[in-house]
Amino acid sequence: MDFLAEAKKIEPEIIRTRRALHQHPELSYHEVWTSKFVSDRLEALGIHVRRGVGGNGVVGTLKGGVDGKVVALRADMDALPITEAADVGFRSKIDGVMHACGHDTHMAMLLGAAEILARAQAELHGTVKFLFQPAEEHGGRGGALPMIEDGAMLDPKVDYVFGLHIDGDRKAGEFGVRGGPVMAAPDTFKIRIEGRGGHGSAPHKTIDPVYIAANVILGLQGISSRMMDPVRPFVITVGSVHAGTKENIIPDYAELEGTIRTLDEATRKSAKRKVAGVVGGLCRSFGGSAHVEFEADAYPVTVNDPKTTERAVKVLQRIRGTRVKRMEPILGGEDFSRFLQKSPGTFYFLGAANPAKGCVYPNHSSKFKADEDVLKYGAASLAMLAFEFGSQGTPR
Ligand SMILES: [Zn+2]
Ligand SMILES: [Zn+2]
Repeated sequence: MDFLAEAKKIEPEIIRTRRALHQHPELSYHEVWTSKFVSDRLEALGIHVRRGVGGNGVVGTLKGGVDGKVVALRADMDALPITEAADVGFRSKIDGVMHACGHDTHMAMLLGAAEILARAQAELHGTVKFLFQPAEEHGGRGGALPMIEDGAMLDPKVDYVFGLHIDGDRKAGEFGVRGGPVMAAPDTFKIRIEGRGGHGSAPHKTIDPVYIAANVILGLQGISSRMMDPVRPFVITVGSVHAGTKENIIPDYAELEGTIRTLDEATRKSAKRKVAGVVGGLCRSFGGSAHVEFEADAYPVTVNDPKTTERAVKVLQRIRGTRVKRMEPILGGEDFSRFLQKSPGTFYFLGAANPAKGCVYPNHSSKFKADEDVLKYGAASLAMLAFEFGSQGTPR
């Protein structure tokens, strides 16, 4: 079966779907319209649909005509709190909300794959599960975990899971793949530094939390340069600093917020310990005290199964008009990681950058614009992965 030819046949529909979704973006945990949209589409294709899975999640199940493995394909559904500034004729109709991460393209490509697979049902081995996930951008519990807790990966139990992300930094038509860790654990932290406030003219009678905060910000960078193994990626960023109300008042406390990114659990644990240690030590040395808190339930490292990834590469290499490129890890976070903790699979990328069409802005930019010509490749790739992995180990 020529999946790319099938995808080309429905290309105008995939693009129409994408634009409809693009105009109705919804924030994490509010994907009500979107969830109904994809559910109705799946049902129209004759696919069994379970709505309200772990919140606004949707699970479609398509049983093939021949026995085989269970393959799950995932698309995320939420948008970002950004006012769209992209030069497109189908701009967001919701003020201050935009599909700037391209999750609209993910849904359109997965619905395209669903249509192709539904038509090939008789020849399809095994079962395909279509996972439409809410709240990927939220962090913390996100959307994958509630869906898993609500049984999305069971009944039937998923053997392989695949997820595709559109990439505004990658050339249109280029797939990015990597076995092993591909995205980071994004751990956010809050630090509250307690001092003792007073008059700005008499710092010796106070414990100045602003001065301590300045030392803490510098000290934290010393963790990456002096305390962590330099061949294991580790990034720490303080992105928010709050203290004080007026120039001549030394405040009682200062608050910092930031994030650390790591690619393996051992580095992650040791980094968190060192952050707490350095902050506590610096604060004490200046007479203050600190409270360091890491967000519970942060996304784990996204780890692609190397063997599954290599098999997937062979499938992707058959798609005419595309290239498959090995990629370096990205230090963003993804809660597709949680599906990968349940079943082997791979999270891969599809480039949508095309300077000739003005598609030059990265994901999360207010001007993010994807080259829609690549959507057919994404739809074909998802359908092919489901088809090929469904028949793994099954005599033909
Ligand atoms: Zn995003
Ligand atoms: Zn995303």
